Amino acid sequence: MITTCEKFGRVMSTKYIFITGGVLSGVGKGITTASIGLLLKARGYSVTAIKIDPYLNVDAGTMNPFMHGEVFVTEDGGETDLDLGHYERFLDINLSKRNNITTGQIYLSVIEKERKGEYLGQTVQVIPHITNEIKERIREVAKITSADIVLVEIGGTVGDIEGLPFLEATRQLRMEEGYRNTAFIHVALVPILSTTGEQKTKPVQHSVQELRRIGIQPDIIVARSIRPLEEEARRKIALYANLPPEAVFSSYDVDIIYEIPLILEKSGLGRYLVKRLELQERICNLDQWINFVERLKNPQKEVRIAMVGKYTKLKDSYISIIEAIKHATAEYRLKPILSWYESTLIEKNKLNPLSVVEENDAIIVLPGFGRRGAEGKIEVIKHVINQGKPFLGICFGLQLAVVAIARFLAGLERANSTEIDPYTPFPVIDLLEEQKKIDKLGGTMRLGSYAIRLRKGTITYKMYGEREIVYERHRHRYEVNPKYIDKLEAAGMVISGVSLEGERVEFIELKDYKYFIGSQPHPEFKSRPMKPAPLFKGLLKALLDT
Ligand code: GLN
Repeated sequence: MITTCEKFGRVMSTKYIFITGGVLSGVGKGITTASIGLLLKARGYSVTAIKIDPYLNVDAGTMNPFMHGEVFVTEDGGETDLDLGHYERFLDINLSKRNNITTGQIYLSVIEKERKGEYLGQTVQVIPHITNEIKERIREVAKITSADIVLVEIGGTVGDIEGLPFLEATRQLRMEEGYRNTAFIHVALVPILSTTGEQKTKPVQHSVQELRRIGIQPDIIVARSIRPLEEEARRKIALYANLPPEAVFSSYDVDIIYEIPLILEKSGLGRYLVKRLELQERICNLDQWINFVERLKNPQKEVRIAMVGKYTKLKDSYISIIEAIKHATAEYRLKPILSWYESTLIEKNKLNPLSVVEENDAIIVLPGFGRRGAEGKIEVIKHVINQGKPFLGICFGLQLAVVAIARFLAGLERANSTEIDPYTPFPVIDLLEEQKKIDKLGGTMRLGSYAIRLRKGTITYKMYGEREIVYERHRHRYEVNPKYIDKLEAAGMVISGVSLEGERVEFIELKDYKYFIGSQPHPEFKSRPMKPAPLFKGLLKALLDT
């Protein structure tokens, strides 16, 4: 595909970079992909990134965060894989639901076309119909974004049965788009044998062999290991992978993921890739990024933040919130010490809600669904209100804050959300009529970016830089029940943001309270390095002022 690259005053072809994984999943392919994107963006190229998930779910919306991690929500309301969050944060761009392709989507669309008769007379097969559909979707993203470079990360590990059609499609793309317009990067684990401390390259050798078996010769290998790759290991990988040693790069464990692009750039990955794709080499400007990493690495004061939720065992369930906290702490040179509290333990009297509040400087009540653990969160919020500590409640966190305000400040005993107790006498959180009519679960929440009108004079308004209209991303079914607003306001609740039609409560505060904010949308999805989300910034600023 040819796109006009105005910046360079010449016509250039779209470049495609395919990222595959070897040996194990979870070796940090997403971060590697995002980092490579940043190195190209820092050279003035426009970049977009696609995540391919070879599972049969149409999207990540119905998947359990315990198993799959966070569901990342895009501007256009896609419920996507958490890697899209890494891409958005590293590349500072907004992606669309189109940037997350799943086997479910591909098959759904091919089968729908077959039923319509679009393939009349043909036998519909994996090759070419499924692979064509995959290629079409990748090219569609290239076309819509008109990006100079399209990164395509293929989820899972090379050798997985379900990933095969995607690898085959990328192999075909190499043929169709040409060698100079496509590059394959293989990210694979190099384990260290505990008895000898030796870096073992055999698993990488095997995964490269597996790739070659299906017709893909990688151009670059990124070896993931605990420590930097030793020369001997690099040489061995290069030899078996049929590559020069300069094409083998090392990505080792670091405390701060934002350091990875800097490590890769230093080792020459950016330069090598630009040359390989016959792109014009340009100055790589990472100054601001370096500055951000420096601030993260040199904090001046510790702050303790309580993270109260239900999926606390898998931290990936709240990855965007963790990153948003880091962005905000970098701004103020603070070191966040996050303590995780499983709210169901509070219900079982195994955890004291008062000590959750007392042990920390600030409290975040995390998003969530369903009854389990909800009462534990409400108990924590009760003590937060009593102690006056800085608080941020996100989505379900806002809803439970409203329940706590109703019960403990407005005197509405047994007030609740109908999600938790359908028979509550005071349904302060309830479904709106339009949600009551929906019976399917997938993709039926209020999703994506909506405009919010802020109320002047509130803390929320101040934190958003005194803007009257702001946009945040949503993922919820339930709402503050308009019937109780008068009572809640009389008890000290301030509605600091509403939807444009004025019907939905988007942000709340408490009167005469230092920092007590509830947010129906998820501000974490729009937080970026060097551009922290206002409400997270506010939470930490409140700590500085004390
Ligand atoms: N369970 C709540 C709702 O559906 C909150 C969802 C969330 O926290 N993302 O409205």
